[in-house]
Amino acid sequence: MRFIETRGNDGIKPKEVTFSEAILNPGASFGGLYVPKELPKFDESFFNKHLDSSYKELAFDILKSFKIDIDDELIKKALNLYDRFDNPNDPVPVKKVEENLYISELYHGPTRAFKDMALQPFGYILSSLAKQQNQNYLILAATSGDTGPATLETFKNKENIKVACIYPDGGTSDVQRLQMVTEDGKNLKVIGIVGDFDDAQSALKNLLNSKKFQEKLNEKDIKLSASNSVNFGRIIFQTIYHFHSYLELIRRGEIEIGDEVNLIVPSGNFGNALGGYYAKKMGLFVKKILIASNENNILTDLIKYGRYDLRDRKLKKTTSPAMDILKSSNVERVLFDKFGSKRTKELMDSLNEKNFYELSKEELKEIQKDFDADFTTDEEIKKYIKEFFENRNYLMDPHTATAIKLYEEKKDEKNIAYSTAEWTKFAPTVLNALKGDNKKYSDLEALTNIEKIGNVKIPLVIEELFNKPIIHDLVIEKDEIEKEILKFLDK
Ligand SMILES: *Cc1c(COP(=O)(O)O)cnc(C)c1O
Repeated sequence: MRFIETRGNDGIKPKEVTFSEAILNPGASFGGLYVPKELPKFDESFFNKHLDSSYKELAFDILKSFKIDIDDELIKKALNLYDRFDNPNDPVPVKKVEENLYISELYHGPTRAFKDMALQPFGYILSSLAKQQNQNYLILAATSGDTGPATLETFKNKENIKVACIYPDGGTSDVQRLQMVTEDGKNLKVIGIVGDFDDAQSALKNLLNSKKFQEKLNEKDIKLSASNSVNFGRIIFQTIYHFHSYLELIRRGEIEIGDEVNLIVPSGNFGNALGGYYAKKMGLFVKKILIASNENNILTDLIKYGRYDLRDRKLKKTTSPAMDILKSSNVERVLFDKFGSKRTKELMDSLNEKNFYELSKEELKEIQKDFDADFTTDEEIKKYIKEFFENRNYLMDPHTATAIKLYEEKKDEKNIAYSTAEWTKFAPTVLNALKGDNKKYSDLEALTNIEKIGNVKIPLVIEELFNKPIIHDLVIEKDEIEKEILKFLDK
């Protein structure tokens, strides 16, 4: 399968690339993204075939159907990383919480958030390719809190790879920060910046596109890649669990093959939702993909009204920080899929130059065929956490709670909602919700409190964080990032 560019070709970069080229060098012409030229298509027989498959068997078949230029052996080894999840035989448990609400838990990997679903196997594939080519790579990651830990964890001590991870200082939870600043691999650099996630992500995109930075890397014989969901290597793994969750419902007799379900996705950079959209196009029986946001509800405006308008917006800090994003990168891949590269470039140019774009009425209708959206305030998030804990004995994190509102709007349809993080990553908010107070708890205090009230266990990987030495204590201004990264590469 070949990959093409969302904003068309600039005459310099190749018009089409292979999967391995697209993941090693994810920046396409005009600042665009790589997308598959076509998608595999599955019919009912695919679902029948996989009724008894393990997660890994299903994943292998889906990856193979993309006809990627990766050896079977390597794919299999990459998928073996799901053995690191809590239950290797069931890495993505799907829980029935109410009659029409199934929660698919994507957070049972080593860093306790859904980023591990893709980054564990992706990191293995990328570093194996680098080693095969005997080429050194710098992986840049901008994080709102979960991509960072998952990227560091997957690339730690890998040959031929160095990682520079940029996070917004004060924009993550304590646990998320500790997961990054206590990582001790020699090939890792963690940098806090003064600013928010959008600042971190723009700094990353600037570096990816900077000729000067590129030249300096060339001198050192280092190539540049990225682990954010701009990299298609993440998206491909994020199509799989949508099929898995649906198959789980069939296996338990909750639905029959062909019955339509909604996928409810707590969204930020839109990578998870994009995986759902591609799954739908590949033949998964999805009615709508419901995009859940927090008060940074730019995606709600886009999907309800066709406007992407950053002009009067400032990023708000919410209790679901992994979704505190206004520039949602993967929307571009949907625009391309629906409207082609010429229109996508026009819209993205408008966003860059005017901080704004608007879809036509017909275009909006086209988007609404597949998507619906709504957002949840911090107060509502706390309400849902409390309500579901008390009435359903289900403990969820603040990101997952944003999905509940959309479920309530579609209670008479079957809904698969995604749980994107474990409660342990955002314990102070969860404790505030359970107790109905607004006290400022430390993460550690909140964790131990919830463990008692909730009769739940804190996993060792979280507990340990509080006793590890801090390795990375650098916090700098945005314009110092390049200098710091170059310094790190010279070490
Ligand atoms: C990354 C993340 C999200 C947003 O996912 P996208 O694919 O960026 O839309 C939601 N919740 C949590 C906990 C996350 O880590």
